[in-house]
Parts: sequence; structure tokens; C-alpha cells
Amino acid sequence: MSPRSLFWIPIVIRLILISLAIGVSNYFWGATVGILIGFVLVLALALVQLHFLYQLSLWLENPEQIKLADGFGAWTDIFARLYRLRREDQKNRAELAEWLSRFRQAMNLLPDGVVIMDDVLFLEWCNPVAEQHLRLNLERDKGMRVTNLIRSPEFIDYIILGRYEQPLSLTLGERKLIIHLIPFEQRRQILVTHDVTEADRLEQTRRDFIANASHELRTPLTVINGFLEIASHQTDLDSATRAQHIKLMTEQGKRMQNLVEDMLSLTRLESIDYPVRPELVDIRSMLEQIQSDNKALSGGRHEVTLTINGPDINGSADELQSAFGNLVTNAVRYTPEGGRIDIIWRDSELGPQFIVRDNGIGIKPEHIARLTERFYRVDKGRSRETQGTGLGLAIVKHVLMRHQATLTIESELGKGSAFCVQFASSAVV
Ligand code: ADP
Repeated sequence: MSPRSLFWIPIVIRLILISLAIGVSNYFWGATVGILIGFVLVLALALVQLHFLYQLSLWLENPEQIKLADGFGAWTDIFARLYRLRREDQKNRAELAEWLSRFRQAMNLLPDGVVIMDDVLFLEWCNPVAEQHLRLNLERDKGMRVTNLIRSPEFIDYIILGRYEQPLSLTLGERKLIIHLIPFEQRRQILVTHDVTEADRLEQTRRDFIANASHELRTPLTVINGFLEIASHQTDLDSATRAQHIKLMTEQGKRMQNLVEDMLSLTRLESIDYPVRPELVDIRSMLEQIQSDNKALSGGRHEVTLTINGPDINGSADELQSAFGNLVTNAVRYTPEGGRIDIIWRDSELGPQFIVRDNGIGIKPEHIARLTERFYRVDKGRSRETQGTGLGLAIVKHVLMRHQATLTIESELGKGSAFCVQFASSAVV
């Protein structure tokens, strides 16, 4: 027999002792005294039991605050066991709370949203990412039906139709989400939300790029093919017309070559496998070269000035040459004859600055923010006329990003533009 199940022994001993006391009293002082003494002893025993029962009921009402008495007789064992149960319960609760807090921490670190609902879609819990994705507020919305909180018809259809093996693609405001509903534990369901806005945007950019690039290549190819067809059908073309056709085909070939070269440059600049290899850049000789190239491009139609008043920097000379060159070439291309182009290299409080200022055609304010997008042009005709690929400023933007530099564009329609590149002081050698 286990010692724990022996708690009845003190009770039996006490009852035997009371019976003995009654017997002895009866023997010495008669039956009345014996019964009286027996009554008093049983009453005392009952009062003691009542006292401890009262203690127990008090403790059960408020086990956190009240300390259980040590007990007496069988109560000592009962109270000790209750204490042990309570301690085990506290330990289990503490373990559960710790596990729950670890689970919540892990859920809060997830890049995806997680919503836990009961079988009738009442919100039980969600992580902060789900709050952002689905515009929920756990404190406010807990216990509410999720279909009342996310009032999108596609979402409600998805829930009603119950084809949960297929994810749902849902657009909420600016955000594009992929939503999975996973039933679990028979009476609960998990909703997982994955934000694909950025991936979708990149995919759209990639599709646009391919569509634009194909379109850009198709135009010169059509021209070349047209002339080749004429040449193959009209063998009697006079030499002046033939020379003119060859000139136009060469121009279109050059245009395709520029485009392919710019696309390759952009791809290289975007590649993380192709980091900047910093070297000392001799700013003076680079800018003098750019000035003389652009004077040649201008053919004397513009005044092109150069002012150098700043330090050399560390960076990729080839990339900077291409970015600065693009900005100056644009100034020549978008400034009518007789205009002026100033190329300036100077130091500032924030670090060195490269500025190209022209008094050319200028740009309307609504175009300025989009100029560095690939193939974005204000005037397509003019850009093509001057052999533009529409990728120049996109290349500039990428080169500057790789050099932790920023581009600001100020322009006024009909008055001219200023493209200012700001380098950090840390770029200085
Ligand atoms: P593009 O090959 O068409 O010149 P860019 O990316 O270099 O392509 O420039 C994008 C557009 O920005 C140009 O088509 C032109 O409309 C505008 N732009 C760039 N530089 C200037 C400038 N200096 N003055 C006016 N417009 C400019």
C-alpha cells in the first residue's frame, strides 16, 4: 500500500481514542459523563475538520494570494498533495506561456502574414505582418468574422467556394497578395498571406523592358529590310539613290548597335556579380575628354564650357565616364543651335558635385520624376532623330547608385535644364 493512501490511519486512530475515552469515562464516572465527553470530543473533531474545510475553500477561491495552512492529521497530507498539484500546474503554465511567447516571436519574425481563425471564421489571432497585409488590428478585430473585416468579393468567394488547394491572388489597395487557407485541428483554419507586390512589379518591369526593347529593335530592322528588298527587286537603281539607301541603312544599323550596347551596359550595371572596382579617377582628364567629344558632336553649334574646382574621387572611371558623358551628350542633343552648355565639377559641403547646365528645350515638371525609367522619353521623335536609345538616364541612375551618389534634375520648359550629381564626401580620395 502506498504511504499516500494511508492518510485515513490518523482518522481511525482518533476515532479509536475517542471510543476509548468514552469507554473509560463510562467505566469511572457513569454513562452520562461518558456520553458528554464523547460528544465534546466528536464536536471538537468536527470543528477542526470544518476549520480546515473552510481554509481549503478560501484557498480554492484565491490560490494565488492565500497560503494554505499546514493542516492537521489527514489534512496535512491532503494539503501537501494540493500544494504539489498546484506547483506542477504553475510549472506547466509557465512552460506553456514560454512556448506560446516563443511561438509568437517566431510568427512575428515571419515575412508572411498568419491569421488563425475558428471554424466559423472568427479571428482568434494574427501576426503583425497579417495586420499590415489585410489592414487588421488584432486588439480591435479579435472575435470578429474575417469576412466582415476583409470585404473583398474575391476573398469572400474564395472562402465560400472552399477550393483551398488553389491559392487566391488578391489585390488590396496598392498591395498584391497570394492567400492560402489551410484548415487544421478540425475546428480551426490558418490564413497565410504572401506579399508579391515587389515581385509583380519586377515581373511587369521585365515584361515592359522586353516589349520596349523588341519594339525599339523592330523599327530599324523594318527600315533595313525595306531597303534590302528594294535593292533586290530594283537592280537598276542609280548610284545616288543606292548611296542614299546605304547611308540610311548604316544609320539604322548604328541605332541598333547603340541600343544593344546600352542594354548590355544596363544588364551589367544591375548585376550583383559585377561590383564596382574603385580606382582613382582623374576627373580633369576625364571631363576634358568629354568636353572635346561633345564639342565634336555639337559641330560648333553650341558653346561648351568646362569649370573644374573640386577634388579627384574614387570610383569606376569607365562607369563615371559613361554617366557624365551621357548627361553632357543629352545637353547637346536637347539644346538648339546657338545654346550654351556648362560642365562643372566642384566641391560642396556634402561632397563633390558634377553639374551639367544647358539653356535648351527644358522639360515639363510632370516628366522629371520618370526620366530615369528605361525607354522613357518626353519626345520620342526628337530622341530618335538624335540617335537616342531612351536608356541613357537609366544607365546614369544605375552608375550613380553604384557610387552612392544622387541625381537631381531642375528644368524649366523652354529655358533649360540642370542635372546635378551629388557624391558623398567619403568618395574623395
Ligand atoms: P534618350 O536616348 O531618349 O535621350 P535618356 O534616357 O538619355 O534617353 O533621356 C530620357 C529623356 O529625357 C529624353 O528622351 C529627353 O526627353 C529627356 N532629356 C534628357 N536630358 C535632357 C536635357 N538636357 N534637356 C531636355 N530633355 C532632356
